[in-house]
Amino acid sequence: MPNTTDFYINGQWVAPAAPQGLDVINPSTEEVCATISLGGQADVDAAVAAARGAFESWSHSSKSERLALLQRILEVYKARAEDMAEAISTEMGAPIDMSKASQVGAGIWHIRNFIRALEAFEFEQPLGDHAPNDRIIHEGVGVVGMITPWNWPMNQVTLKTIPALAAGCTMVLKPSEIAPLSGLLFAEILDEAGVPAGVFNLVNGDGAGVGTMLTSHPGVDAISFTGSTRAGIAISKSAADTLKPVHLELGGKGANVIFADADEKAVKRGALHCFNNTGQSCNAPTRMLVERGIYDQAVEIAADVAEKTAVGMASDPGRHIGPLVSQAQYDKVQGLIETGIAEGARLVAGGPGRPEGFNRGYFVRPTVFADVRNDMTIAREEIFGPVLSIIPFQDEAEALAIANDTEYGLTNYVQTEDGAKRNRMARRLRSGMVEMNGQARGAGAPFGGMKKSGNGREGGVWGLMDFLEVKAVSGWSPEDA
Ligand code: NAD
Repeated sequence: MPNTTDFYINGQWVAPAAPQGLDVINPSTEEVCATISLGGQADVDAAVAAARGAFESWSHSSKSERLALLQRILEVYKARAEDMAEAISTEMGAPIDMSKASQVGAGIWHIRNFIRALEAFEFEQPLGDHAPNDRIIHEGVGVVGMITPWNWPMNQVTLKTIPALAAGCTMVLKPSEIAPLSGLLFAEILDEAGVPAGVFNLVNGDGAGVGTMLTSHPGVDAISFTGSTRAGIAISKSAADTLKPVHLELGGKGANVIFADADEKAVKRGALHCFNNTGQSCNAPTRMLVERGIYDQAVEIAADVAEKTAVGMASDPGRHIGPLVSQAQYDKVQGLIETGIAEGARLVAGGPGRPEGFNRGYFVRPTVFADVRNDMTIAREEIFGPVLSIIPFQDEAEALAIANDTEYGLTNYVQTEDGAKRNRMARRLRSGMVEMNGQARGAGAPFGGMKKSGNGREGGVWGLMDFLEVKAVSGWSPEDA
């Protein structure tokens, strides 16, 4: 690991122009595990200048050159998997085995999928037989500012940097200041893989500082952001004066609609998914909508899953959930559990406070509320903790109305053995993704939302398109390709 207070600019590790330290806290122990620097305008200007300088050359690199680079990144990333798992586990509290398998694994999955998408992608395409002298040319959008969250650090960083490299863009990444160690390691991986100087740059900092400097910077051509809806709105405003496109991957409040004819594992699967990563996933199915006929049984099963979900230190091996990421997140989740109780939801598992045996660390109890109404705070706000809200419904129409009655629209889930009902629901749910009967999305499927969940699409060919300009050319000479 490089000196954690340095930034990676123009192919070099450099000290910040003006030192301003920020401690990184291990959420399992509440102890400082590293110190990073918060960058300033001079650091951002240097990184943007490096990226601008590298754009001319990288944007005209060949597809085979880019493919070879992505392949090398994949190899180095895999070789550093243990270090990466350790960094993520320490900075944001994912249990070490889960960190290796899911957190680091997500990066491997995305790099592989983008290699496949790039192989198949034609940067120059004919418009159609009716216009033989027209060509549609796709070219890199330019210098991209990338701002990422702490909850799935490498998932987010690879979903942005890899397609941007594939598209011929250059970039400045600002990882979350709460979980920056994995980002520093990623910069080291790209350096070792031979990414040309200036193509990838990293400046650490917070949202109000480096984040705003990037989004408002005249030298940045586009922003790719993943994080909260609050920050997404602020970023859109900050980017507006320079008219740069802003791709947003924001929060969610997914419904998991479980019909009476769902398979017997549906409730357990839904509860486990909600608690995964200690509930800190934008696509967590946090509103479990259950058909009245199986409602009581479903509440019992979900409560049982919560009681049996072990909580433990991130450094401990095994299948458990870790702490929340920070004191702020701990306070927010505790407050929302209290609000759920105060608003009259029925607490059937977990509740306020730390789990037994913990007196430090941001650990919370896996919690289930039954008899939740969709107008209660816990059904409307993204809690970002292991808190499940169960809501009864009478029939398909009511389920659909409740599921769509949210300002978010990221992922919804449907569980029923009735194929026609599944397809009807999939067509009418207002979300960027609908996952049914526990089947995960296939390789290359786009990830993204509607409404206040954002407008971006990450993954596959859609993930490439977010980083490409489309140029229409007429008078093209097809003979002189
Ligand atoms: P956050 O919005 O607080 O921070 C995310 C990043 O944005 C950080 O790097 C932060 O420094 C930066 N930032 C904050 N305010 C900014 C501003 N005004 N200008 C520029 N940058 C700013 O979010 P978080 O707490 O780190 O992450 C959790 C959120 O991310 C949740 O809402 C979650 O749903 C969302 N998320 C969405 C997806 C998705 O793909 N839709 C994936 C993961 C997480």
